[in-house]
This record gives sequence, structure tokens and C-alpha cells, in this order.
Amino acid sequence: MSEIAEAVGDGVLPGRVWLYANYHCNLTCTYCLTESAPKVAKRELGAQRMLEVAAQARALGFTSLGVTGGEPFLLSYLTETIIEMAEMLPIVVLTNGTLFTRARLEEARGLTGAPVAIQISLDSADPVANDTMRGPENFRRVVAAIDALVARGVRVRIATTAEHIDEHELERLCQLHRGLGVADEDHIVRPILRRGRAIDSGLGVDTDLIDLPPELTITADGAYWSPFGPTVHGGRLDTDLLVSRTTSPLDKPANILLRLVQGRARGDDAKLDIR
Ligand code: SF4
Repeated sequence: MSEIAEAVGDGVLPGRVWLYANYHCNLTCTYCLTESAPKVAKRELGAQRMLEVAAQARALGFTSLGVTGGEPFLLSYLTETIIEMAEMLPIVVLTNGTLFTRARLEEARGLTGAPVAIQISLDSADPVANDTMRGPENFRRVVAAIDALVARGVRVRIATTAEHIDEHELERLCQLHRGLGVADEDHIVRPILRRGRAIDSGLGVDTDLIDLPPELTITADGAYWSPFGPTVHGGRLDTDLLVSRTTSPLDKPANILLRLVQGRARGDDAKLDIR
């Protein structure tokens, strides 16, 4: 058994490896951690690299995968790649849920019965409040996508990101997702982090980053401590949570991360000045 497999088995390292598929997005949410937008640098990993990371993660003893961005479903090869990755490890894919055209929904039938969860952002049961943060028509499109995916037997999770949500608002949201066929255990509520565009919008909470779980996160620019690490502000990629510029083979950043978790010396190319 590899040292990584042992650390995952003992709960020293989380079992999930995250992949930043890309950084561009069709939306421009006010709190976006990565300043994503249609015309930003794509920083795409590519299908081949995503499959390599999945295979190496499984061989090392990691137990699941996460795909995020940007908006991963802007990539034409995404569904096909997810299906292949899910043959190796269970996977959750984060999406804004606005790109599920008829063709995409047909493709999504391939996810039915696979160990795949599509996690869609929905911030409020009030369309106006939701669309203020996420853009015009977002609520309508997201609700339609959830409905269509659930009808095709695809597992959907809902992620709510909010500065503050009171009991009444939360109850309305829960009634909505239950009505759409999404169970309570598949609804997560999380705070806005003060990184990326949230800084300029005056939103979010300052996080004690050292409290973030050490979830190995692979991007086109390097490996990070957490999926909340490779954020962008002022057009520049943050490197305060960079673990290593080297991501291949995966055991290199995985072992550096493990050494960091164990309080041992880090690799030369790490720049991890966690505040
Ligand atoms: S928060 Fe998500 S959906 Fe919104 S702009 Fe950023 S990547 Fe796109």
C-alpha cells in the first residue's frame, strides 16, 4: 500500500482529488473566487490530462474526484471525459447549470447509474435575489436543468453560496429542492469566501486558510492545498496556497502535500505562506 493510500485510509489526507478543468465561464457572478468570465484566460487542463490525473489518483489510493472551474460544461469533451473518469473513481462535477441544452441533456443520459453527482449552484428560492448575484434568467435556467437531469436519473446536488441565509429563506429553498427531487443530504450551504471577485464586491468572510482541509487540487498552473486555493484577483492567480508547480506524475504533489500535513519540509517550488 502506498504512503498516500495509508494516509487517506487513516484520515490524515482527504480522499478527494480536485481538478480545475478550466477558468472561463459564461457567467460573471459577483462573488466568483476565480474572476471567471467569458473572455478570461482559459487555463484548461485538457481531457487527456484529466484522465491521467484520475488514473494516477486511483493508483495512489485516493478515493474520489472533483471537477470544478470556471464552468466545466463549456468544454465540448466534458461529459465524455467524466464518464471515463467515473470508471476509475466516483466524481462530483461543479457547474452553474445553465448550459444544459437538449444535446447536453442527451449526453447526460450516459451519467445515469454512474458514480457521478452534478453539483449545481442555486443561491435562493427567490428568483430576483438569486439572479442579482448570478445573472439574468439564472434561476429559471437552473431550475429547468435540475428538473431535466433528475428526470433522466442523474444524481444532482445543489450548492447554495450566501452571505447570510435566515431560517425562512432556507426553508423555502429546501422546499424547492425537495420538490425538484433533490434530497436534503444533497443540498449544501456554504459561505462566500473573501477571495477573487468577492474582495472587490465587498462580500464574504475572511477565512483562516489553515483550517481548509488539505484536498490535493490540480490546475494547469500547479498543485494547491485546497480547491479554494487557485483563486484569481486582479487578473493574477493567487499562489498563497500553491503546493507545487509540478503536477505530473501525481505522486510528486501528493507527497509534498502529505509532508506539509505531517509538518515536514516542503519541496523547493512550493510557495505556501498560509495566513
Ligand atoms: S461563481 Fe461559478 S458560475 Fe459564477 S462566474 Fe464563477 S465560475 Fe462562473
